[in-house]
Amino acid sequence: MGEKYADVIVDISHDKVDRPFRYRIPAELTGKVEAGVKVHVPFGKGNKELTGYVVGLFDSADYPEDKIKDICGVDDKDTTVEGTLINIAYWMKSHYGSTMITALKTVLPVKQKFKQLEKKKVVRLYDRDEIEKLILDYEKKRRNAGVRVLKALLDEEMLPYALIREKLNVSQSTLAALEKQNVIKIETEKYYRNPVKPISQRDTAKPLSDGQRRIVEDVINDYKNGKTGTYLIHGITGSGKTEVYLGIIEEMIKMGKQAIVLIPEIALTYQTLLRFYKRFGDRVSVMNSRLSGGEKYDQMERAKNGELDVIIGPRSALFTPFKDPGIIIIDEEHESSYKSENMPKYHARETAIQLAEIKGASVVLGSATPSLEAYYRADMGQYRLYKLNERLTGGSLPKVYTVDLREELKAGNRSIFSRKLKELIEMRLFSKEQIMLFINRRGYAGFISCRACGHVMKCPHCDVSLSEHRGGKLVCHYCGYEEMKPPGCPVCGSKYLMGFRAGTEQIEEAVHKEFPTAVTLRMDADSTKSKESYEKILSAFADGKADILVGTQMIVKGHDFPNVTLVGILAADLSLNQNDYRAGERTFQLLTQAAGRAGRGDKAGEVVIQTYQPEHYSIVHAANQDYEGFYAEEILYRELLMYPPAAHMLAVLVISAKEDEGEYITRRFSELIKQRFSDNKELYIIGPAQASLSKLNDMYRHVIYFKHKDYEKLVMIKDMLEAYSKEENLKYQNILYDFDPVNIY
Ligand code: ADP
Ligand code: ZN
Ligand code: ZN
Repeated sequence: MGEKYADVIVDISHDKVDRPFRYRIPAELTGKVEAGVKVHVPFGKGNKELTGYVVGLFDSADYPEDKIKDICGVDDKDTTVEGTLINIAYWMKSHYGSTMITALKTVLPVKQKFKQLEKKKVVRLYDRDEIEKLILDYEKKRRNAGVRVLKALLDEEMLPYALIREKLNVSQSTLAALEKQNVIKIETEKYYRNPVKPISQRDTAKPLSDGQRRIVEDVINDYKNGKTGTYLIHGITGSGKTEVYLGIIEEMIKMGKQAIVLIPEIALTYQTLLRFYKRFGDRVSVMNSRLSGGEKYDQMERAKNGELDVIIGPRSALFTPFKDPGIIIIDEEHESSYKSENMPKYHARETAIQLAEIKGASVVLGSATPSLEAYYRADMGQYRLYKLNERLTGGSLPKVYTVDLREELKAGNRSIFSRKLKELIEMRLFSKEQIMLFINRRGYAGFISCRACGHVMKCPHCDVSLSEHRGGKLVCHYCGYEEMKPPGCPVCGSKYLMGFRAGTEQIEEAVHKEFPTAVTLRMDADSTKSKESYEKILSAFADGKADILVGTQMIVKGHDFPNVTLVGILAADLSLNQNDYRAGERTFQLLTQAAGRAGRGDKAGEVVIQTYQPEHYSIVHAANQDYEGFYAEEILYRELLMYPPAAHMLAVLVISAKEDEGEYITRRFSELIKQRFSDNKELYIIGPAQASLSKLNDMYRHVIYFKHKDYEKLVMIKDMLEAYSKEENLKYQNILYDFDPVNIY
């Protein structure tokens, strides 16, 4: 409080929106001017009065005191919803890097207006007896259309206009005549497009377990005491997290607050939505990419008008214009889809926490395998941590076998199925139980490992795996380190040093060869181009139309298959050896989730993890379903190498038409920052290097990474590079900033 200056962005339709302007806060407005508040300011040469939003408060002026203008007034009556969103856009712009206009486009509801839908209905004004009399009269006069309408209205007070016109084949003039006689009235009603089909079934709350109740009570009591914050629920699938969310939301609704529930799009199944609808009825709505523009627009309108209490959706649902949200829930908090792939590359978790701070709301995160970020913050005491350890619907944890593929090779088995997996598949085919075979296609772009000893070729500087390029070059995509692929394994000398190349199609073929009677279904990005085919494959499998479902990571989420008692993970190393620092975390998550698919029903499940590195901590801890054990080792690695969350990382990607341009710019970036930070020992610069995807759409991609414990230092670096790019007029190159990236470039 007591700041004397404010940054204001003027009217969002104005093209000068990209940068805020600093104004003086006159004494009489002190205390009234806060971030997000709507103000009136003089603008330009003529001092034309414009409206704007305050996006920051400062103690000092950024240019000569005598040129700074005063804010004229504060608009108290502003609905602040827009103000909040503008505020968050400004935060995103400064925190993640993008232009103000792009940030505003990300947070503000669809600009395009959609016409409000209208429905006409026919309301009966006569009572039943009068209608009956009139029918007799009309029958005599052979006014058949009129008779049809009247008969239909005998038992109904009102009917849809369209139904009468089309189904009863009644003309407009017949209805007009009836209206003139005051028999009926034609009314027009406006209504919103609603993606939710009305359901009459309702659910009431289940009596919560002690563990569940404690979380709900803590969150609500804290909130009532004005203590908002972030809560992390670490609970295995089926441990009752969703029931906790429902409990918290119910209490929030009682207090007149709204709730935002984020769910990864892929897990946004009808079953999940149904639970919310049954609990909260038509005051719940959904946002997702399948909605039409009009549907999206109307959900935003409903939220603004106070017709909704709960919105469920992916990342972007965060920006639902609620007046007074009390709680933001992020389910499956670890999912990488919470990070935006477009500028600004915001993370829904951090943005939700920022939004909650502005609005005085709390945030609840839930996951069976929390992200290192979330768990680290909980460990540091920034989030409150809760554990739910039991499955409430019974079903035991599966038995996990780890198979060492090196031993298979030694024993002369070159098939992609280990002997153990083969034996278990045969048993399931015999007992008519179902099997899921899982391969992680993501790491497909070639790491190199030894089939005999499991040794993986890694960068000596970054400890991530090297990628094979054409011509036998092995390249690190963080720092640019290169070496030629050796003729044999540097550890054991075996000549089986190669990439693992098996996609879902090859696996399906191999299944047919080994198990000719098995019926298979396949699910990957190719077989699920449309949303319907995704649902179709899953429901066919759920209906028992196949014995084996072969798929990528898509199959480990969503749907429950009670008859699946065996899950095979064909090559756990594929995700383990991805060329980035999150490989271990991703592998642990994938294996834990995949293993969790087995034995959801009454029958116990078994899981086979095939790997060349059975001793790797991600695999050992996943097999033991031991998150804490995994976390303890993974966080050491991150601390040692200064990777997030132990430190922060900024990736700067330069996309240019000419290869040497990108090379030059990233080198200049590196030199510039080295010079400015010459006395700062805590900054680490990696690269510049060619990006892993070094050319896309004929554009060259170069990347440079900065690591620092202090996030704000990285923001400074971004600002410096932005200023430099402007000075050097680098407008033909696309320069992208990504803070704490989830994927490498
Ligand atoms: P999660 O979100 O952690 O996967 P859910 O909330 O979906 O867990 O709960 C798993 C199952 O247990 C659901 O079928 C749910 O209806 C049931 N369940 C949750 N809480 C309770 C409870 N307190 N009493 C009885 N059943 C519960
Ligand atoms: Zn070897
Ligand atoms: Zn390297």
